[in-house]
Amino acid sequence: MSHISRKPNIVFIMSDDHAAHAISAYGSHVNRTPHIDRIAKEGMRLDATYCTNAICSPSRASILTGTYSHVNKVPSIYAEFDYKLGTFPQVLQNHGYETALFGKWHLGHTYASTPRGFDDWKIFPGQGEYIDPDMISRSGKDVLSGYATDIVSDLGLRWLEERSESNKPFCMMLHHKAPHRPWIPDEKHKHLYPVGSIPEPSTLFDEYATRGRAAREARMTIVDDLEADDVKEVLPDHLAGDVNKHERTRWKYQRYMRDYLQCVQSVDDNVGRILDCLDQLNIAENTIVIYTSDQGFFLGDHGWYDKRFIYDESLQMPLLVRWPLEIPSGTTSREIVTNVDFASTFLDLCGIDGGTALPASQGRSFGPILRGQVPTDWPQSMYYRYWEHDDPVHHAWAHYGVRTKTHKLIYFYADGLDTEGAGNTTYPPEWELYDLVQDPQELNNVADDPQYAELREELETELKRLQEYYHDEPYSASPEGEGVSSHRGSRPN
Ligand code: CA
Repeated sequence: MSHISRKPNIVFIMSDDHAAHAISAYGSHVNRTPHIDRIAKEGMRLDATYCTNAICSPSRASILTGTYSHVNKVPSIYAEFDYKLGTFPQVLQNHGYETALFGKWHLGHTYASTPRGFDDWKIFPGQGEYIDPDMISRSGKDVLSGYATDIVSDLGLRWLEERSESNKPFCMMLHHKAPHRPWIPDEKHKHLYPVGSIPEPSTLFDEYATRGRAAREARMTIVDDLEADDVKEVLPDHLAGDVNKHERTRWKYQRYMRDYLQCVQSVDDNVGRILDCLDQLNIAENTIVIYTSDQGFFLGDHGWYDKRFIYDESLQMPLLVRWPLEIPSGTTSREIVTNVDFASTFLDLCGIDGGTALPASQGRSFGPILRGQVPTDWPQSMYYRYWEHDDPVHHAWAHYGVRTKTHKLIYFYADGLDTEGAGNTTYPPEWELYDLVQDPQELNNVADDPQYAELREELETELKRLQEYYHDEPYSASPEGEGVSSHRGSRPN
């Protein structure tokens, strides 16, 4: 039984923009992911895992540090990561873990922002490339030949085998760039999910009838904002113009999803390779395998691609955790957890108190939930804030909100911000409220429905309480548009 007292290993596999509803364990209508599903079958599927700021770099910073964006100073993709807070891999390294990171880092572009806390690392610069990607490490830059998702796993597999004689526990992080835009699949998957075969979501033609302006102003629509480069084909002439909007949406949706799902298939294959390797090395039993994505994604839902909004398709992160020694197999949880809770949880599972090791951490370990015990005072709501107001590509508006198990209140605080974030217009702020029990697709905004007045008041109080709890400043209009415009930039994401 000596292995029980031994610290567990961690294999953390994170993809980029992989929505839970493109995983069959989560009931996908559009694809099959047998290897990711295996983690669910042999461990726990968490059904209410939410990203606190649904975009790449901010989610990564929150995961590593256990803090909200206003604390870790990565509210947008234009910020550089500040290491002063410390990260959970650094803590593990300090506690005798061997640590490694391969794949997408996306937390800055200067030497000062290259990974720390890892014995070994190799990352894509910025977003990285799908085919024959550049990668950087301590020894400089290499060009690796092959397909990015395979390469990340190859690096991980080699590392696992090279250290297999070591007595130390390890933490290995594999950060896939897939299935991020521009969705370039591997040749060997190009026969899958052919055009015309992919079911459409029921909200593909959502016209935002009851929403505010934010939904209409966002430039994330399948119909008009996906470009020829995205769908890899020039739009036929007969699909242009206003009369053909539905046909155009369908045409682009099929091509977008074909490529997206083919990219996901590589991720799934590679999850299988890692699971097989753990079996072969005979270390699966005491290795915690985590599969997640930095946030969710709109798969034609509400007529969109991309993320950013607090709406569920983008807010929800897939989270599957397998640890045969401690987590009962085939279990699920509907408790609300967030990416801010990850660091404390992983440290806790390794027997380290996250509050002591990462004093700035705002998260709480959901270790007990993984073991099947829900603490009586577990939070019943979560706080969200999207900071990157009206970026030059997607034009999503800044907002914050609260999600409970049954409702969601959103505040788009555009007051005082113009489209350049310069702060010289006076759009009225907008509230949205969704009854997730009656309206799980969030189609019917009831913010001004008198029947929901009392509930709205309660949720506004809860939102204020959460902002105070996390020490986040509510937005207040100022002539400079301060606090938002400073996060703007020009690098597309
Ligand atoms: Ca992402």
